[in-house]
Amino acid sequence: MAEIRAPKERTCTQCGRSERWDEDAGNWRVDDEVGDVYCVHSWDVTGSFTPVEES
Ligand SMILES: [Zn+2]
Repeated sequence: MAEIRAPKERTCTQCGRSERWDEDAGNWRVDDEVGDVYCVHSWDVTGSFTPVEES
């Protein structure tokens, strides 16, 4: 069974902002840490994000 692998959470490596994916809204929401509003944000999820796992 193929499983869609999309990040549900992401954290900024620069300011520590923490967000989680809101499926109903179709958008990211601040989870816990707001971080720096002037930060451009460098998310920690892009490197390992693959839409479908192949083995
Ligand atoms: Zn940031």
